[in-house]
Amino acid sequence: MTGRWPHIIVHADMDAFYASVEQLDDPTLRGKPVLIGPRSQRGVVLTASYEARPFGVGSAMPMVQAMRLCPQALIVPPRFERYIQVSAQIMQVFDHFSPHVEPLSLDEAFIDMSGAEDLFGPPTVIGRKIKDAVKEATGLNVTVGLASTKHVAKIASALNKPDGLTVVEHEKACEWLAPLGVKRMWGVGPKMEARLHALGFKTIGDLARSDPRTLTLQLGQHGSHLHALANGLDPRQVESSRRERIVGSERTLESDVSSLEQIEIHLRRAADRVSARLRNKRLHARGIRVKLKTTSFQLHSRQARLDPATDLGEVLFRAARDLAAQMLTFGPFRLVGLAAFDLASVAADKQLDLFTEPPRQSKLETTLGQLNSKFGRDTLKRARDLRRNGTVMGPAPTLDFRTNLPPEVEPERDRSFEGEDPGWD
Ligand SMILES: [Mg+2]
Repeated sequence: MTGRWPHIIVHADMDAFYASVEQLDDPTLRGKPVLIGPRSQRGVVLTASYEARPFGVGSAMPMVQAMRLCPQALIVPPRFERYIQVSAQIMQVFDHFSPHVEPLSLDEAFIDMSGAEDLFGPPTVIGRKIKDAVKEATGLNVTVGLASTKHVAKIASALNKPDGLTVVEHEKACEWLAPLGVKRMWGVGPKMEARLHALGFKTIGDLARSDPRTLTLQLGQHGSHLHALANGLDPRQVESSRRERIVGSERTLESDVSSLEQIEIHLRRAADRVSARLRNKRLHARGIRVKLKTTSFQLHSRQARLDPATDLGEVLFRAARDLAAQMLTFGPFRLVGLAAFDLASVAADKQLDLFTEPPRQSKLETTLGQLNSKFGRDTLKRARDLRRNGTVMGPAPTLDFRTNLPPEVEPERDRSFEGEDPGWD
């Protein structure tokens, strides 16, 4: 088995999305050529089912032309409300896998699965699980590509449709890209393709071997970008933009930490803050992620499922501690962060809570949170959190609070975030 990739990026793309939804909802359309689009003479095909594609029909083609090529095709007007509904189900499935999901359209998204191997398995297994989960939730097929960059993941999914699963090993990305035509590159349309061909670049490998300075002279800014992409380099991160996808807290430390005991102090604080914010928003988290930044600025992260979903600081803390323990060998660390993701409103989880939430813990944490928000952050603290300042020594019971402590000497370096978090690997 090859080594771990620096990042695991998934590109997931539903197959003939609108047509597949129509075939799902109306069994009489299954196995038949279906064109989604207006019946009007001037309309264009939005999606053609896979049964229609051998006739040379594709999206963006004038409907008149498509009907000439495939006269037996069934024309179905689009039902966007339904597609939006199914899209929400799909994105919800992706949310179960990672806090970082970047939708590109209703049926397509990047999912950052970096640091999730311990939870889900190696990249191939991750891809399989995402496909199975989408199928189970919607009855529809998704094609996925997995690679260590967005660019390669996007190309990988496009090459093998429908119902594909393509994994491009990190170390072999350049080799894999080299024989592909330049039009496969993300962002290269017909015009750029023609330009590249005119300059003698037929394959991605041709671009990779070219002199980047000459390429920049020939194509401007685009040149150096394409040269980097052709060489398997793509620093772009998966950018989740929807709000409330993630609630997190992180701290750049005054002095580096390496022992689990030291890290625990910061995880405890972050868990309490995240817990308070979840409670304020009446949200429960089903996923947790811990990130640690080393003194050489390398980011490491691990994530885990929370079952049942929770807003309890104690539960978040315990899960976070287990994740941090898996990364100790990378230390020492200069930053400790914790984030809750896959968030659902408490109302949706209420049934579950009645049977699973330890009521005393919840009540205590709620009271603690209310007091702290009324009288200022850190009015009440657990004794174990004070060890850093030498106030309390030795092991302390889990729930032991002190009141009216003097404000901390250490400058405030916490960062709280919700929704988009560009710093989270
Ligand atoms: Mg698609």
